[in-house]
Amino acid sequence: MQKLDPYINVDPGTMSPYQHGEVYVLDDGSETDLDLGHYERFTHSPLTRQSNYTTGQIYLKVIEKERRGEFLGQTVQVIPHITNEIKRCIAKLADDEVDVVITEIGGTVGDIESQPFLEAIRQFALDVGKENCLYIHLTLIPYLKAAAELKTKPTQHSVGLLRQIGIQPDVLICRTERALPASDREKIALFCNVPVRAVIEERDKDFSIYEVPLSLVENGLDELIVKKLGLNAKSLELDDWRELLHRLRNPDTEISIAVVGKYAEHKDAYKSIYEAIDHAGIEHHAQIRVGRILSEDIQREGPERLLSGYDGILVPGGFGERGVEGKVDAIRWARQRKIPFLGICLGMQCAVIEFARNVVGLAGANSTEFEKDTPYPVVCLLDEQQNITEKGGTMRLGAQVADLAPDSRAAECYGSAQVQERHRHRYEFNNQYRKQFEAHGMTFSGTSKQGSLVEVVELPEHPWFVAVQYHPEFKSKPTQPHPLFSGFVQAAVRRNSRDSMVESGS
Ligand code: GLN
Repeated sequence: MQKLDPYINVDPGTMSPYQHGEVYVLDDGSETDLDLGHYERFTHSPLTRQSNYTTGQIYLKVIEKERRGEFLGQTVQVIPHITNEIKRCIAKLADDEVDVVITEIGGTVGDIESQPFLEAIRQFALDVGKENCLYIHLTLIPYLKAAAELKTKPTQHSVGLLRQIGIQPDVLICRTERALPASDREKIALFCNVPVRAVIEERDKDFSIYEVPLSLVENGLDELIVKKLGLNAKSLELDDWRELLHRLRNPDTEISIAVVGKYAEHKDAYKSIYEAIDHAGIEHHAQIRVGRILSEDIQREGPERLLSGYDGILVPGGFGERGVEGKVDAIRWARQRKIPFLGICLGMQCAVIEFARNVVGLAGANSTEFEKDTPYPVVCLLDEQQNITEKGGTMRLGAQVADLAPDSRAAECYGSAQVQERHRHRYEFNNQYRKQFEAHGMTFSGTSKQGSLVEVVELPEHPWFVAVQYHPEFKSKPTQPHPLFSGFVQAAVRRNSRDSMVESGS
């Protein structure tokens, strides 16, 4: 699977979560579009650096070639040089192991910046033979409330534009709020020059995104694809998806988890975190109400009003000073009230800061990311980062091995003494403080392979307090919840049932 993004950033690593949602990190350390998270959650496709290209990357490659003189005096142009580079990026994925390459082009038909990508895939069908290529156009069918009707016009126009540039979609997937009546499907088919059965309804699922594959199959998409590409496919095995939805629909209990982040009001900024919480909920038969809480609000109002009643508190990653003190306050609340707590990346760094200030007694302790001259730099820049000034792709990135202490909560969750998790950070726990912290009850239960970098911290005296420098959320799947999320949610379920027993007097 592959995503081509028409924006000019070389990768989304330099973009604000407000602009582009979460930056999704792969094993090989590439910083990619959050759609790659969906690809990993929904499929078993192996993803690498070659799974996400942007206009910026394509141009960078072509310009570097030009500087090396590889175009032998030619005038370098969008067609054919940029389009050739795009086609090369698509073809690169097609090694002997691969039956089908699925390439998604981001943006909207008609955008100026997506034109070279559309031209490239038009040419691609000529290169590989039309019978080996299938075009699926994803289109929005808006519902006008005032008129109480669905509008097919935008679809007619976008398909019209595609046909002008020489692409006839084979299948239209119609995103819609309401059921698409047969008459609308027929109209779309007629105006867009596709058979009616290739007009596939994809209605919003109010229950779960994990209903989507089953509904696409019900609407016949799988058969259309197999037939057009002449694939020798076995019948689809979807029992695990059906089981998953059954569990989602029939929870035994309901719990609530607060996610305290600086981008909490933005739904996509912590996408993988919210998904990973859901996955663990499915495993433990729990419906989870997630409270997205802005850390600055906690800073302003204190944790009492905003965090009371939650069964678990999660503090995710982030960059920059804004809202950090609110995260620290939330962690103090979780520690003192013995509420299950999971800290991730900046969340771990804040847990360390909180512990330093309020338990070890290092008043004013901080990360040098937020306060250069703090008296107690308990979190500081990684050595390897000292001389790095460029921002793009320069953090400690991707899968790294961590060793876990045998009796730790982390090792118990994973059921293993060694794990590989994905990273994206520049700062780390300052090892000078290790002994002092240990003397006050924090354990360093996970360290990087050479034992130097702290990867996991825990409070063994607390019912469930684990914080990690890496991002476990990127490896959670609906059918394979991440062990740490699973352990965290289980602890929250336990706390919830204990609380309700107390309330009912039993
Ligand atoms: N800002 C912190 C660092 O760079 C944490 C990063 C993160 O949460 N991804 O180390």
